[in-house]
Amino acid sequence: MGLLTTGLPLSWEEILPYVDYIKEHGIAQFLSIYNKAKHREDNLFRWGDEIEYTIVKFDHEAKKVRVCLRGDEILKQLQAQAEVNDMMGTDNKTIWAPELCGYMIEGTPGHPYGALLACFNMVETNMIKRRKEVQKHLNEDEALMSMSFPALGALDFTYPPTKIDMKNSYGKSMWFSDEVIHQGHPRYTNLLRNINQRRGEKISINVPIFKDEKTPWPFTEEFECPEAKKNAKENHIYLDHLGFGPGCCCLQITFQTINMEEATWLYDQLAPITPIVVALSAATPIYRSYLADVDSRWDVISASADDRTAEERGIVPLKNSKFILDKARYACLSCYIHETSQPYNDIKVVYEDNILQKLIDEGVDEHVARHIAHMFIRDPIQVYKERLEQDDENATEHFETIQSSVWNNMRFKPPPSDNSSIGWRVEFRPTEVQLTDFENAAYCCFVVLLTRVIVSYNLVFVTNISTVNQNMRISQKRDAVLNEKFLFRNKLIRCEMTSDGKRKIPDKNEPSFETAEMSVNEIINGDGKEFPGLVPLIFQYLDEAETDVNTRETITQYLTFIQKRAAGEISTLAHWMRDFVQGHPKYAKDSHVPDETVYDMIKTMNEITDGTKECPKLLGDFKSKTEREVTSAVCRAEAAIVAAHEKSVVN
Ligand code: ADP
Ligand code: MG
Ligand code: MG
Ligand code: MG
Ligand code: MG
Repeated sequence: MGLLTTGLPLSWEEILPYVDYIKEHGIAQFLSIYNKAKHREDNLFRWGDEIEYTIVKFDHEAKKVRVCLRGDEILKQLQAQAEVNDMMGTDNKTIWAPELCGYMIEGTPGHPYGALLACFNMVETNMIKRRKEVQKHLNEDEALMSMSFPALGALDFTYPPTKIDMKNSYGKSMWFSDEVIHQGHPRYTNLLRNINQRRGEKISINVPIFKDEKTPWPFTEEFECPEAKKNAKENHIYLDHLGFGPGCCCLQITFQTINMEEATWLYDQLAPITPIVVALSAATPIYRSYLADVDSRWDVISASADDRTAEERGIVPLKNSKFILDKARYACLSCYIHETSQPYNDIKVVYEDNILQKLIDEGVDEHVARHIAHMFIRDPIQVYKERLEQDDENATEHFETIQSSVWNNMRFKPPPSDNSSIGWRVEFRPTEVQLTDFENAAYCCFVVLLTRVIVSYNLVFVTNISTVNQNMRISQKRDAVLNEKFLFRNKLIRCEMTSDGKRKIPDKNEPSFETAEMSVNEIINGDGKEFPGLVPLIFQYLDEAETDVNTRETITQYLTFIQKRAAGEISTLAHWMRDFVQGHPKYAKDSHVPDETVYDMIKTMNEITDGTKECPKLLGDFKSKTEREVTSAVCRAEAAIVAAHEKSVVN
């Protein structure tokens, strides 16, 4: 989560006097990058994934599994190895980074992938390699799992044990000790502290509980804590700490576009796809060892990182805060940024007029300016004492501190600096992480190829932004992939390219602008009428592109897998986990998942991940592409293109 810097992190009270100063300089820093990079046309399509992992420790005797807080220790070993590789001139094929909780670790490929379709032969192999690298540092009873731990906050859920201190901790949680937060870098505890301090009371999250045969109804829990007494809702699983949110793992994908216009356009077109992928990737049905009535973590993270004051939340009248804010800083986005999407911006966005004006006056496209101004209604919560004063022409930290702590389903990423070989990028952020590398590769393949289709055919998916927000709420419901309908465009529209290379779409009033209630299956596989389906569109694109047989087979496996998930022939992980719990002898049909059930389930999940157990319900008859080799000629060609390009950018 966000920017990594060294220094002494300031508390919220210490930041407060500098808020306007930091925003002013953050905007100046953005302007510096923007104005130097806005005409860049030199970027190649590139992309890369990020996977967050949970390290667990099994206690086979007690039939208990816990999260293992050795993340930082293992990370340091991985990073030491990377340094050795650098020194020896050996290419690093992976990059490791810390994450919010001490049991987490984030892995990315060592280099982004390029536009050649043959790269899809490498994606899963790289993910497998990542896993193996970490496994070298694990003890026999530990495992690296790409999943969200279902018993966070349950009694004794960490190894080593952590102490609850509701009085003196920052989080003041009844269940989640601050010690579970990553300790290797002060920024994580600082984030926790400042979110709570800014909010002015502890975090409060209510997840609807799943009602089973014997669930006491109404479902209520007795709490001593006055805030819990006030905030916990009936028939909900109550949670009260930042860690419950970003302590769940996710899969993210970043794409570089050829220029800024394409980035803004892709950002918009992918936004309506995000809820569909949430439903399709659902993997988080259990919180604090209770079965929830939702399958995905999105709203949980949103509430867990909600730093809005009571005034901003509209609970008390505005006095010290500037705005009432409808959403937390982790939320579904509220505005499109490409010119062609403006008729679909039907949510009122707040911003400070002077910030918007400044951006526009300094030459920023008005829609991008509005997005940035809207983002800057959030205060910086991660500031380092030594770095308050910065050279706005060369530094970007005051911009990044806001940019990297506003967490939307899509992120618009400007070049990291004005002389970087990295260009304009967008990040696709909502996907729930999958248990196996095969699945994670499949979701990457699907989303990445969809960007190729959108760009090649100039397809338009934008619908009203309020609809996207509504779809995001629907997408998290239990078995949304099977049961829910989403308002989605049911006719294909292609936008036209004007002579100056800009995109233009038909009028909103034309009959081609239509949405219909569609299931995920209809959206992915086609509705049998006018909408061909996203995956068939990708296959059409592939038919026109040149691929070798090997690559085509790899991609076909991934896409067919996605199709089967969408059709309900293969379960989501969330569905599979529910089934497992409900079929487990220790489960008393009361929505509470006993430790032994959690243990058996995660043990089974680990066996599925490492391939020792087959699981057709979750994976069909698809097999991991272990060590599928890309012809080395393809790798060399790709590397040569990238190297030549980087040279030309640097020169
Ligand atoms: P963040 O956490 O800010 O989203 P990370 O550095 O963790 O960023 O991940 C960024 C992802 O973007 C990685 O998968 C990386 O491979 C990929 N990436 C790096 N450079 C580029 C680039 N020029 N174009 C596209 N993707 C890139
Ligand atoms: Mg992350
Ligand atoms: Mg990050
Ligand atoms: Mg990252
Ligand atoms: Mg990311």
